[in-house]
Amino acid sequence: MTDGPTYGFDTLQIHAGARPDPATGARQVPIYQTTAYVFRDADHAAALFNLQEVGYIYSRLTNPTVAALQERIATLEGGVGGVCCSSGHAAQIMALFPLMQPGRNIVASSRLYGGTVTQFSQTIKRFGWSATFVDFDDHAAVKAAIDDDTRAVFCEAIANPGGHITDLDAISSISDEAGIPLIVDNTSATPYLCRPIEHGATLVVHSTTKYLTGNGTVTGGCVVDSGKFDWAANDKFPSLSEPEPAYHGMKFAETFGPLAFTFHGIAIGLRDLGMTMNPQAAHYTLMGIETLSLRMERHVENATKIAKWLEDDPRTDYVTYAGLDSSPYSKLIPKICPKGAGALFTVAVKGGYDACLKLVDNLEIFSHVANLGDARSLIIHSASTTHRQLTAEQQEAAGAGPGIVRLSIGIEDADDLIADLDQALAKATA
Ligand SMILES: *Cc1c(COP(=O)(O)O)cnc(C)c1O
Repeated sequence: MTDGPTYGFDTLQIHAGARPDPATGARQVPIYQTTAYVFRDADHAAALFNLQEVGYIYSRLTNPTVAALQERIATLEGGVGGVCCSSGHAAQIMALFPLMQPGRNIVASSRLYGGTVTQFSQTIKRFGWSATFVDFDDHAAVKAAIDDDTRAVFCEAIANPGGHITDLDAISSISDEAGIPLIVDNTSATPYLCRPIEHGATLVVHSTTKYLTGNGTVTGGCVVDSGKFDWAANDKFPSLSEPEPAYHGMKFAETFGPLAFTFHGIAIGLRDLGMTMNPQAAHYTLMGIETLSLRMERHVENATKIAKWLEDDPRTDYVTYAGLDSSPYSKLIPKICPKGAGALFTVAVKGGYDACLKLVDNLEIFSHVANLGDARSLIIHSASTTHRQLTAEQQEAAGAGPGIVRLSIGIEDADDLIADLDQALAKATA
C-alpha cells in the first residue's frame, strides 16, 4: 500500500506493510525463508553495514516477511516503527534494553501477566535492573515510586488477570512530568480496542502470541515506538543520545530522529541479543491479523454475555469484567477502550479451591491452559498453576486467590460456552 489517504482499521489490518512481491507479483506476503541476502556490490555491503542505507543483510536483523508484520503492527498502533521479536517476553526486554543500565529501575503496575511479574521481580535483577510494583489505580503512589534512577513506567492497558482498565492518560501525564517513557503492554486489548499512543504511551509492547495471531500457533512479540519521545532532552538515555562505539560514534537520536528507538532495536538489540522473530511465525501472525477486528468484536460480544450470565448465577460470588455495569472500571471504557473491555476476566466460584478444580476438570469446550487470546475459550486456575509459588497473601494481591478462575473467552457460540459453564458449575458446586 502506498502513502495516500488515511485508511480505516479494517483496511489497514489487511494491507498495511504489504505490497505485491517485487520479484513475482505475489499478492500475499511471501515467506522469505532465507538467512542472508546477496549484496549488489562491495559498496552496497559497506553502506548497509554503516547504516547509511536501509536494506537486508542477515535475518537475525531484518527479513522481508517480518518487516511486513512490523510495519502492519506499527501502523495499527499509530507508531512510527516496530521491531518484532521471538516472544512477548523478548519484546519486553527489547523495550527496556536501550533505556536501562545497572542500578536503574522501572515502576511497574502490580497487575501484570504472571510471567511478566516473574521477569521483572526476579530475572532482570541479573542485569542489575529492578522493578518497583505499585497499584496503578493509586496515581499518587505511582508518582511517589519514581526516583532519579527510574527509566520507564510499565503497565498493561487491560490488565491481567482481572481485565482491569488502566487510566493511561493519568499515568502518561505522570511519566511525562518525570521525563521518562511510558511502556504499555497492549496484548489483552489489541490496537482494535485500545491505542495507547493516543493516550501518551511512548512504547507499546505486544505478545503477538495472543490475539494478534489469534489461533494459538506461534509465539512472537513486537515493540512499537510512538516516535514522540525526545531521547536527547536529558542525560538519562545515553544509549540513544550519546555516541555509539559500535557504529563509529554515531548518535542514534541525532541520526535517526523519531526512528532512533526502532533503528537501535534492530541495529543493536536484535544484532546483539538475537531475540529475532522467524519468517514462518511472522507469516502466521500476518494471517491472523487480517481478521483482528472481526475476532475482537466477537470476543467482546461473547465476554459481555458470559460475564453477565456468570454474575447473575448464584454459584459465583463475583465477576471482574470491566464491561459489567458493576465494575468500578466501566467508567474508563469510553475513554480508554471505546470498542469494549476485551475478553479476559476472573470469576470467584462459591466453594473455593476445590470447586475451582472441579470446574476446570469438567468443562468440555473450555481448555485448561496457560494461554489467553486464542479463538478458543480458555480457563486457568491460577492458584494451583501459574501462581502456585506465591504465598496466600501474594495470590490475593495478584487477583489470583484460591477460589478464583481466569477465563479467556473465545469466539465460539456464546450459548454453547454458557451451557458448558452451566454443566461444569453444577458438578463443581454439587
Ligand atoms: C502472554 C503475555 C506476555 C508474554 O508473551 P509471550 O509471547 O508468552 O512471551 C506478556 N504480556 C501479556 C499481557 C501476555 O498475555
